[in-house]
Amino acid sequence: MDDGATLIARLQAELGEDAVITDAAGLDGFIEDFRRRFKSGALCVAKPKSTAEVAAVVRLCAAAGVPILPQGGNTSLCAGAVPAAGRAMPVIVNLMRMRAIRRVDAQNGSMEVEAGCVLKAVQDAAAAVQRLYPVSLGAEGSCQIGGTLSTNAGGTSVLRYGNTRDNVLGLEVVLADGTIWNGLRALRKDNTGIDLKQLFIGAEGTLGIVTAVTLKLHPLPTHHALAWFAPTDPAAALQILGMFQAECGSRLSAYELMNRRQLDLVIEHVPGRRYPLEGKHAWHVLVELADTRGSASMAEQLQQTLERAAEAGLLADATLATSDAQRAAFWEVRHSVTEANMKAGVGLTTDCAVPVSAVPQFIDEATRAVRELVPDVDIVIVGHMGDGNVHFIPLFTFDAWHALANPAEMGARMRRQVNDVAHRLGGTFSAEHGVGQTGLAEMAHYKSDAELALMRTIKQALDPRNLLNPGRLLP
Ligand SMILES: Cc1cc2nc3c(=O)[nH]c(=O)nc-3n(C[C@H](O)[C@H](O)[C@H](O)COP(=O)(O)OP(=O)(O)OC[C@H]3O[C@@H](n4cnc5c(N)ncnc54)[C@H](O)[C@@H]3O)c2cc1C
Repeated sequence: MDDGATLIARLQAELGEDAVITDAAGLDGFIEDFRRRFKSGALCVAKPKSTAEVAAVVRLCAAAGVPILPQGGNTSLCAGAVPAAGRAMPVIVNLMRMRAIRRVDAQNGSMEVEAGCVLKAVQDAAAAVQRLYPVSLGAEGSCQIGGTLSTNAGGTSVLRYGNTRDNVLGLEVVLADGTIWNGLRALRKDNTGIDLKQLFIGAEGTLGIVTAVTLKLHPLPTHHALAWFAPTDPAAALQILGMFQAECGSRLSAYELMNRRQLDLVIEHVPGRRYPLEGKHAWHVLVELADTRGSASMAEQLQQTLERAAEAGLLADATLATSDAQRAAFWEVRHSVTEANMKAGVGLTTDCAVPVSAVPQFIDEATRAVRELVPDVDIVIVGHMGDGNVHFIPLFTFDAWHALANPAEMGARMRRQVNDVAHRLGGTFSAEHGVGQTGLAEMAHYKSDAELALMRTIKQALDPRNLLNPGRLLP
């Protein structure tokens, strides 16, 4: 038996034959990324069902010197959860069988869940006890809580509740040598030394495998008021955001911007979606207020703020959702952007964040920068404007893309043009998707030597043999 076969046999003995996938057809869904742009081989997929089994898998892989790729729902948008080409084939450790909700403590505002729980199941379990787990994003029906932690996922409610990092109280992690660290505390205050959990949040599986999490819950808003409106331009959208912040305070829960092109693509490519407003408007915002009580006053607050914005000439049209069904329909439009863009062509998705006040300037300058390369390139814009995160997406039809002499080079140059603008404005090239494989060149380009050296020091200390997720995050 060769080494790979020996390791597979040992993994099967440890987990059971059914829990180790080795055949090509079975591996297929685990080795290709969500957008179907990256595919590379893996030795096998191991599906442990407990923390002890994860630790056993890590120990066996470490003994064999085989790399380990932790995987959640495989919805990464930066090829973070699939094997890297040209490297030793890893064992993919998918946590899909670790889905227990271990404990919900409504009074403490916390819940302990296994890392393989799907995000939507976590939201539902919290809502069942009138609590909110606020992280929400388009992939919530399939991404796992361990994946959201490892990428420090953002989504649509960051402006009110923060990103994943702000909603984690404790962690359980299997380290590179198979040691289990149980840091599953449910405390809001704990100053006993370095806050170790922060090391693993956003580390994209390069420092350990997250096996369980204690999440922070919030009071469940039961009343919502949502509007869709057409600001005259991004600068007006920014001014209106300020008005909502002043008028509605912490009730403001979402403020999502998109351009006309993005909306058109959703309507064209995703069945069942409808234009929220009549008339053709260049810019669109979905705004939502949420509270534990007072829907009538909240709808008034929303309407009055929009009326003041209209009087100031900042918006062209607006509509309030008048039923739960309409509210859901507006959210569906927002959550359909990834599906629409994938069907429409090759989108060079970027994930920049800039200071919120610089969003209009970023959009202007990025538009000019990519049009220097291709004057008539289609530009799709969608973003979480409330937290300064704009997905600026030059989009090519499939035919136009394949007609390019060197598509890969064009993709890299366009993204660099956009990322350079963000960098000049004090921003980042990756606000929420992470680095994965596609952001490695940008890490090398934008991070200072000191910052990269610090990250490498931490990696070396926790995974000296570079077995956990090699070939991503750190150039
Ligand atoms: C339609 C759509 C919309 C999206 N919208 C958003 C959005 O609004 N905001 C946002 O932030 N992201 C968004 N994403 C990106 C993606 O959903 C998130 O990054 C998500 O957090 C990934 O979770 P996952 O379980 O699929 O992780 P995977 O894709 O499986 O893995 C992501 C990374 O985490 C590592 N990892 C996974 N599980 C573990 C674990 N248990 N322990 C250690 N490492 C682990 C992997 O190795 C990989 O590096 C979207 C994706 C799609 C497809």
